[in-house]
Amino acid sequence: MKEIKLTPKRREALRQLGINNTAELISYFPYRYENLQFTDYRDWEVNSRVIVEGKVFSRPKMVRFGSRKSVLHFELGNDQDTFRITVFNQPWYRSLQIGDHLTVVGKYEGSNRIVASQTTKDDMQELLGITPVYSLKDKMKPKTFRQLMQNALELNRGEVGEFLPESIRDKYGFADRYNSLWRVHFPQDEKSLQKGIDVLKYEEFFRFHCAMLYRRKEIHQLSPGYRKVFDSRKIRELADDLPFTLTYDQKRAVNDIIRDLKSETRMGRLLQGDVGCGKTVVAFMAMYAVYLAGAQSCMMAPTEILAKQHYRNALKMFEGYDVNIALLYSGLSAAERREVLEKIALGETDIVIGTHALFQNDVEFSNLQLIITDEQHRFGVRQRQLLQDKGIQADVLLMSATPIPRTLATSLYGDLDVTTITQTPNASKKITTTLIKKNSFMAVVKDIEKLLDEGNQMYVVCAAIESASDITVRNVNDVYKNLSAYFDGRYKVSLLHGQMSEEERDRVQEAFRNHQTDILVATTVIEVGVDVKDANIMVIYDANRFGLSQLHQLRGRIARGQREGYCYLLTDSTDAEALKRLQVIVENTDGFKISYYDLKLRGPGDILGYRQSGLPAFNLGNVVDDAALLNSSREDAREVLEHLDDPENIEVKKYLESLNRDSGHYAD
Ligand code: ADP
Ligand code: MG
Repeated sequence: MKEIKLTPKRREALRQLGINNTAELISYFPYRYENLQFTDYRDWEVNSRVIVEGKVFSRPKMVRFGSRKSVLHFELGNDQDTFRITVFNQPWYRSLQIGDHLTVVGKYEGSNRIVASQTTKDDMQELLGITPVYSLKDKMKPKTFRQLMQNALELNRGEVGEFLPESIRDKYGFADRYNSLWRVHFPQDEKSLQKGIDVLKYEEFFRFHCAMLYRRKEIHQLSPGYRKVFDSRKIRELADDLPFTLTYDQKRAVNDIIRDLKSETRMGRLLQGDVGCGKTVVAFMAMYAVYLAGAQSCMMAPTEILAKQHYRNALKMFEGYDVNIALLYSGLSAAERREVLEKIALGETDIVIGTHALFQNDVEFSNLQLIITDEQHRFGVRQRQLLQDKGIQADVLLMSATPIPRTLATSLYGDLDVTTITQTPNASKKITTTLIKKNSFMAVVKDIEKLLDEGNQMYVVCAAIESASDITVRNVNDVYKNLSAYFDGRYKVSLLHGQMSEEERDRVQEAFRNHQTDILVATTVIEVGVDVKDANIMVIYDANRFGLSQLHQLRGRIARGQREGYCYLLTDSTDAEALKRLQVIVENTDGFKISYYDLKLRGPGDILGYRQSGLPAFNLGNVVDDAALLNSSREDAREVLEHLDDPENIEVKKYLESLNRDSGHYAD
């Protein structure tokens, strides 16, 4: 493909959007379209979107409030009438002169009043019709971007080849790729736009499935597993020993896993269920089964503190049993580490719980047959693969606290079997979530002081660690300072973030766990964390900056003990979409519903943890709305992968090989 000429400034602006070459540019799709039609002002309905063109009749008057907010009014007239225009937060319109020509798009408020969403000196004609809306940053103006897009497409006539095999294009009656790109970036009418979208959306899904299925094949290499021999009654006895009864879903999960372990095909199973549904116990039962079969198992957790919690729980659960459990993490001293590694290598250790330290080179198991990954979305595909290489034909169990509907799970997780836990024990505990449309602690401080006085502890979550260029985002350092000063010893405030040393973090969390401190100001490092039974309050600054599943996970940190929880989502955002999203968290406590919304809004990349995996993203396709297409493209991909050497599949083959080549560069 030919590259377009770019000034260094534009090259940088594109790079910031993740666009490094022309191929990436033409695949940068609009996230929505606007369809603007001219209507006579006499037909305007209140609250509808309208467009009007005219000359500025009066000098703009502006009122500022605060440092970054302003409102500005002026009159715009044409030969038909005069309109009163309101513009929010765009102070530079102050410099408009009487007589300037202007086109305004906005919401009609009645009585000739319009609140502008877009104003331009261009003629109205240029704005009419279907306009793609791209997600751009300040440094790139939509008009410039469209110009670059046009250059790129024109320059590459005849260079843009087909990706989809001919048989597939025939099957669905798809137009060629080059045409489809024009239709999506420069739509003429709804119908041809839709046709273009259909082709490229399918291609996204198809690419994804090819990559996914190919990877899976590589990882598993279709190898058989070991049939493990053990007495299932022993496992039931262990269950009877627990201080609680397993839920129906937990029992079902254990049964699924036992069946897999006993079969001679290698297990590849995902165990998904909401925060607190009790996946860990299920995992321990699986590890016990492997112990009974005379082999080793390991569990990898994303943080040291979580690994330690699992370790403590395992020790408790296997008290009085002859099971040897070890904890492996990078904080061990050299001598401790040597000892742990030796026992693992000799097979004296049955169960190993650890962090990423588990897949380092010097860790050798004597007979590793089950590998469990907790909070799997926190790990890259590559990390999991490295661990898998430690066990020959070991069974694999992945655990996820972002549960998604079954049909989607089958589609998005490729060839994994999926077990879902839908019940949550102790689910009666309540968390009240409140949305505060102000990014200020003071808005909730009265409520909070009362709760703190009743013996509750509190998490305060911020999106940033330090004040960066974007000063509107709260950061943990400043918030920590401010709260410490504000409470002035009345409550003990502590600080936690990912740039602190492992020991330091441990110390802080341990102190919070023992209620030596009352308030923990933290980044999302607490998303997966230990249970602190008095921590029943959570305040989240800039809540609009977090994904829904992430907010749900964070909120899952509170109300782990006997008392009710209180979660406050703070935001300054006035964006209707953002507020609607947050309302989902306020109204729902069901992880399934929340991840469903999240998938619909953001796509699976972040949520299911393969953003860094090199798998392609969905920019046009929506896994929820386009579920049927997602499934049919998967079947097609499966078919194509079986005939990868056919000439018509050459592009797919090249693509998959290119994924392989890049595999050394994963960010994870
Ligand atoms: P998650 O699925 O989020 O990893 P955990 O495994 O950490 O959840 O379990 C959450 C809590 O619920 C733990 O304290 C665990 O001991 C407890 N628990 C697990 N299963 C049951 C059950 N069947 N009845 C009561 N409590 C349970
Ligand atoms: Mg867990």
